[in-house]
Amino acid sequence: MKAALLVGPQKIEIRDLPVPVPREGEVLVRVREAGICGTDFAKYRGDLGGDFPVIAGHEAVGEIADLGLGVVGIHIGERVAIQPNFACGQCETCRSGMENICPNRVRLGLDVDGVFAEYVTAPRKYVWTLPEGLSDSAAALTEPLALALHGFQKSAPVPTALIARKELLIQGAMTYRDEFRAAIDLLQKGEIRSDLFITNIYPLEKLPEALAGFRSPQRVKDIVKISS
Ligand SMILES: [Zn+2]
Ligand SMILES: [Zn+2]
Repeated sequence: MKAALLVGPQKIEIRDLPVPVPREGEVLVRVREAGICGTDFAKYRGDLGGDFPVIAGHEAVGEIADLGLGVVGIHIGERVAIQPNFACGQCETCRSGMENICPNRVRLGLDVDGVFAEYVTAPRKYVWTLPEGLSDSAAALTEPLALALHGFQKSAPVPTALIARKELLIQGAMTYRDEFRAAIDLLQKGEIRSDLFITNIYPLEKLPEALAGFRSPQRVKDIVKISS
C-alpha cells in the first residue's frame, strides 16, 4: 500500500508498505480522506517525542476492507469514521467509566501507525458507521468536531445546536467521551458544516508540502485525499 512514513522529524517518505492485517477484534479500513491536525504537525516537527518511523494521521473516513476474528455488527464496504484513541478497557480509570482518559490508551498515528496510508487497522469498537449523504471530507472531520462538542458540553449547560448559530472558540486539551455519534448526527443534519473549514485538499504525495505550510495564515483545515 502507499503510505506517508514519517522516518524522523521533518522527514516524510512516500513508501510502498505491506497492508496491515487486522488482529482479533480489529477491522481493516481503506482510507479515503484524512484531516491534518496540529498533533500531526507537532509529531512531524519532532515536538511530541515518541518513536519513528511511524505513519501519522488520526482523523479519517474510509470503508471497511477486512474483518479480524470475532468482529460482528459491521460489514466489508461500510463507510466509517475512526475514533483514534483506543482505551485499554482494563485499568481502574477504564473500569470507572472514564475510558477517554485511560492512561494506557493507544493513540492512532502516534503510538501505532495512523491514517496517512491507503489502509489502517483499528479496533471494531472504535469505528463508527456513517450515514449516506454525508460527504467524505465532512466526515473526515468527525473527530475534531467530537472534541469540540466534548469541550463545549463540559464548559456550559447549553444545547449543542447553539454551536451552529454562534461562533465559538474552544481551546484546551479535550478528550471526547461519547460525542462521536452526536458529531455524526450534527454533520448529517447539516447543523454543522465542517466542510466550510476545509482550505486545501492534497494528494498523499503532497503531505510534506501540506505539513510544511501548516502555519500559513490562509490555512484553516487541510485534508489529504488518499483514495476514492
Ligand atoms: Zn486531530
Ligand atoms: Zn485503561
